[in-house]
Amino acid sequence: MVLRLGLTKMAILTERRIENMKRIILSCLSLLMLFSMLTPWKTSAKSKSKLNKTSITMYTGTKVKLKNDAKCSALAEQKYGNFSECENGLFLCIGTGVGGAVIYNGKVLEAKEVPGFEFSHMIIQKNGLQCNCGKRGCFEIYASLKRFKEKIAYEFNLTTLRNEEIIKIILNNKDDVRLKYFLNEYIENLAIGISNLINIFEPEKILIGGGFTDYKEILLEPLKQQLLTGNLLFNKRNDIIIQLAKFKNDAGIIGATLI
Ligand SMILES: [Zn+2]
Repeated sequence: MVLRLGLTKMAILTERRIENMKRIILSCLSLLMLFSMLTPWKTSAKSKSKLNKTSITMYTGTKVKLKNDAKCSALAEQKYGNFSECENGLFLCIGTGVGGAVIYNGKVLEAKEVPGFEFSHMIIQKNGLQCNCGKRGCFEIYASLKRFKEKIAYEFNLTTLRNEEIIKIILNNKDDVRLKYFLNEYIENLAIGISNLINIFEPEKILIGGGFTDYKEILLEPLKQQLLTGNLLFNKRNDIIIQLAKFKNDAGIIGATLI
């Protein structure tokens, strides 16, 4: 959910302004949730979106534009970041869930009626774990960073999911059998989902944003190796360009100024 703020140049987005934008966007998200609770619930995503935009505009007098955060992130990376020279790219926002966006021939793809490209809900396991969307076996259930962290926290009796604590546990228990299993399982599942997307879109480059960026040293290289050696790709590659988003967790907020 985004308010267009009229900022057009990254150069004027100082750190302080980004923080202010975060506050505004969080406030608007709260408003959106409130209006969602107070207004009659419609069945389609499109009608929900229209209803909420209309409601917020009516109550605040402010023009509102909505776009999925992963697609906003892709826009930011395309305009100012690591997609700047890339015509065909894949963006994955891995955190609480798994958001996604595709840049194809220089454009961020969107479906006509709904945003589409919901990678998080492609099924990678028949009759798998229950997803919040109501289906079973969705990519998100196996590949969200939140689930990975929850498993480690549970196994090592942590009462927090703070990244600093989880990373400390991982680094201090490198030879622990349970930890190795969790890491391998997570990387394998992540690679299955991403390889499905590579086989469809054949991107020149893959960018990852979200909370995953805090785990670069632990997860990124094993993921790349699994993609290259896991017999998952239809068109074999000698290398694969997979990097973090330049703007990490702020990519979505920066991209929101571009819609
Ligand atoms: Zn799902």
